[in-house]
Amino acid sequence: MDRQEQYRNRAEQVLLHTYSRFPVVIERGQGVYLYDTEGRAYLDFGAGIAVSALGYGDADYEKALVSQIGKVIHTSNLYYHIPGIEAGEKFLKASGMDRVFFTNSGAEAVEGAIKAARKYGKKKYGQERYEVIAMEHSFHGRTIGALSVTGNEKYQEPFRPLMGGVRFAAFNDLDSVKKAVSEKTCGIIVETIQGEGGIYPASQEFLEGLKELCVQEDILLIFDEIQCGMGRTGTMFAWQGYGVKPDIMTSAKALGCGVPVGAFAMTEKTAAFSLEAGDHGTTYGGNPFACAAVSKVFDRYEQLGILEHVRKVGPYLEARLEELVSQYGCLKERRGTGLMQGVEAAGIPAGEIINRALDQGLLLLSAGNNSIRFVPPLVIETVHIDKMVKILHNCLKELG
Ligand SMILES: *Cc1c(COP(=O)(O)O)cnc(C)c1O
Repeated sequence: MDRQEQYRNRAEQVLLHTYSRFPVVIERGQGVYLYDTEGRAYLDFGAGIAVSALGYGDADYEKALVSQIGKVIHTSNLYYHIPGIEAGEKFLKASGMDRVFFTNSGAEAVEGAIKAARKYGKKKYGQERYEVIAMEHSFHGRTIGALSVTGNEKYQEPFRPLMGGVRFAAFNDLDSVKKAVSEKTCGIIVETIQGEGGIYPASQEFLEGLKELCVQEDILLIFDEIQCGMGRTGTMFAWQGYGVKPDIMTSAKALGCGVPVGAFAMTEKTAAFSLEAGDHGTTYGGNPFACAAVSKVFDRYEQLGILEHVRKVGPYLEARLEELVSQYGCLKERRGTGLMQGVEAAGIPAGEIINRALDQGLLLLSAGNNSIRFVPPLVIETVHIDKMVKILHNCLKELG
């Protein structure tokens, strides 16, 4: 039994079996590579599920974390602290929102957004205004509230009954949303680009139509930017690329670049009728350590010109993937924006390609609809994209 196998066996003895993990024990990372316990390098096109935007070993980011550890890691939200102020200011500046609440995860950000929308509806229109419209094939997280707005039968089924007052509509189908709207609707939640569902960008008309509908009916438009936000599409938040501003938005994943942190934010107009003192809370959420990470992430994005970089390498990745799709019959379609791309496989399981890529030192993720998902660190360079494509060529040739 080799060393990695021993580690894997130990893991399987203690951890709840909620994941089928890849058979690799990761020990460290540098740049856009991860290394296993045997020193094998893996080119990382998954970034820990779209989290590690700065890659691994960014000295400035690490220095900021260490420095904050030396001061104070946690205070609770009963006191003010400087990292919280700075992270909040930078988040609002980047998003154009007016109020932010930091959470520990994406799911909690979604919970907060749902609560904020319900509070708004009830405070302004009375007890019956509590329904949320969500999209089919969406993903918003695994807690009961977030799961209740996640349009995936497989994820929902074992946990029913879920939170009530949720209606589903078809993504990119405005008429379907309109049919679901009633006097009871307080919010519409939508991923600007569906991630787990298979990398499906919202259409311009859909988001514009939703906005118009929401303004007309005073329904809150909630964009879940947990995966597609933080620069992944070449704007800080994907909705900025559409020019359609939500009333509430969520963030997480790359927000802390690995330190667990999320956020939900809203406009002042929303906040005026929404969560008040005592309505919501968290013990750790937005603690000094998490906020020091967020604050430094925004600094590094600026210093490294991350958005410009994504706008440069994103189209290159897109073009190289298009080339693959045109060459192999087992690849059906490319979808996505910037460094959030998906390629749908046909005739063979996407997982088969992904497993072969792993054997050749390339980390990829799957997504819904039998797709391969490409969400690399945002500091990825064209040479890494070339290398990734070369490995994929090898895998696809093997598969015939
Ligand atoms: C990952 C994800 C979530 C859930 O985030 P967690 O941090 O895993 O709770 C919610 N929404 C979207 C769009 C996501 O991609």
